[in-house]
Amino acid sequence: MNNARGAPVALLGGTFDPVHYGHLRPAIELLEALNLSEIRLVPGHVPPHRPQPRLGARARADLLDTAVAGIPGLVVDRCELDRPGPSYTVDTLHHLRRALGDRRPLCFMMGQDAFRGLMRWHEWRRLASLAHLVVVTRGGDTAAVAPALDEWMRPRRVVDPAALRVAPSGYVLFHAVSRLEISATAIRRCLALGHSAQGLMPDAVWHELALSGCYGYPQVSRAITPG
Ligand code: ATP
Repeated sequence: MNNARGAPVALLGGTFDPVHYGHLRPAIELLEALNLSEIRLVPGHVPPHRPQPRLGARARADLLDTAVAGIPGLVVDRCELDRPGPSYTVDTLHHLRRALGDRRPLCFMMGQDAFRGLMRWHEWRRLASLAHLVVVTRGGDTAAVAPALDEWMRPRRVVDPAALRVAPSGYVLFHAVSRLEISATAIRRCLALGHSAQGLMPDAVWHELALSGCYGYPQVSRAITPG
């Protein structure tokens, strides 16, 4: 029985330190391919699973605002910024689920690497009771998951994105997106060496980032003037 109502809303968490085309292009592809009503980009405040971001959460969210301006369907959600302590995905999904009601399909997007480590996440079993899990794969990303996770996933796995509209939560879908060889780590490294990262993110983001010098770029001798 179809107990869902409305087009799916999706959540894409990340540190976005800083945002780049490797975040934006896959999000646009997912929006279209899965027929989503919107993707909420949620910058993490205190990510529990990784080193702390270089830039403060609000500054990362402001750069994200600039990045999504003019891209229909991509929205910045600051819900994790006001919560003290670690940003657990289960709390964020719970918050969104309350806002959307019980019947609206909700999807949580995660990379295949993150999915492989899912069983270490805080209250991981509750994630699928709050949302569908969309495991975003990039070309060549094929390594198997642990047997226990595979066993948990099998009865929940669907291959047709249309299934995401049939129930509000509970399915696992693998979906491939274009592989863009861009990472925030490489961008931060590049900037720290005094090299430009222009072209790896929207120009408006690049100019904001370079003008503020927030990642230590440009060094004084290389100061740039946009426009
Ligand atoms: P870092 O290099 O600091 O670890 P990152 O560039 O991988 O950061 P995150 O902010 O951690 O970016 O990622 C947010 C989400 O975007 C994650 O789900 C991640 O898998 C995805 N993502 C990041 N880079 C790419 C890319 N080049 N192509 C597709 N998805 C990406």
